[in-house]
Amino acid sequence: MQKKIWQENEVTELFELPFLELIFQALSIHKLNFNLDELELCSLLSVKTGGCPEDCAYCPQSAHYKTSVKKESMTSLEEVIIHAKQAKQAGAKRLCIGAAWRNPNKNDLPKILEMIKSIKSEGLESCATLGMINEDQARELYEAGLDFYNHNLDTSPEYYKEIITTRTYQNRIDTLDNISRAGINVCSGGIIGMGEQRIDRVRLLVQLANLATIPKSVPINKLIPIEGTPLADSSHIDNIEFVRTIAIARIMMPKSMVRLSAGRSDMSQELQTLCFLAGANSIWLGEKLLTAANSEPDKDIELMDKLGLKPMISA
Ligand code: SF4
Repeated sequence: MQKKIWQENEVTELFELPFLELIFQALSIHKLNFNLDELELCSLLSVKTGGCPEDCAYCPQSAHYKTSVKKESMTSLEEVIIHAKQAKQAGAKRLCIGAAWRNPNKNDLPKILEMIKSIKSEGLESCATLGMINEDQARELYEAGLDFYNHNLDTSPEYYKEIITTRTYQNRIDTLDNISRAGINVCSGGIIGMGEQRIDRVRLLVQLANLATIPKSVPINKLIPIEGTPLADSSHIDNIEFVRTIAIARIMMPKSMVRLSAGRSDMSQELQTLCFLAGANSIWLGEKLLTAANSEPDKDIELMDKLGLKPMISA
């Protein structure tokens, strides 16, 4: 079947639907493609924190801003293995390792490849988020067994320059192309609540759904405003608008995992439930994301119990 090319006006119309109609459509599509009682659990570990040369306005790891995050040296392979064992025991099916780089250099990549092999040998899927990747690096990552690569588009092409100036939107799309051509699954999404307008959310979703390869995993983040970053004083996005964005991601990318990503630490159980009703079927597990706080594991287990959700074994 030919891939649908989404137009901005179609997505704008989805945003304008009565909320209950939108949720009904998203939930119906979710039920057609996934088991409604399953939630994908993934774990995240920063293996190189802080001192990043990029200037992403939301990120406390950028060397451009004075934040509480300090530059650290690379995590050892042993620590990654310990984290992988703990993640597996907690029910995670995938471990994503993240490094605060513009791109990996030739000295660091071999260490990352070893980490990927170790994650795989613990029986977990592997994912990495390491900045920009060229074709050769993508091939090396694939050969090491990397299952997913995360590289978010963040926002619309039009709003992007307000958020990042040190690399272009096209740089990001090129990395995603290199990743998918190498045979690695693409994980790409965005951040909602960075001061963008609804049309930027429309355009972000159009970009994601129209990529040459539709991302298999789509993280939808709610901005965590962090002191010291340019977005520290951003006003919060309306929760219903956030849920609408998730529902529309589900409708536009029916077979993708839609991850309710950063921002859960400040969400009530009821708001998270609304996001699951709208089609989110994946979360990060663990107290910490790369550097920001995440929802507490006990609370996640409690909510999953209440909702009758069980960890997804395979997608
Ligand atoms: S989001 Fe990634 S690339 Fe951007 S500043 Fe933070 S660590 Fe660097």
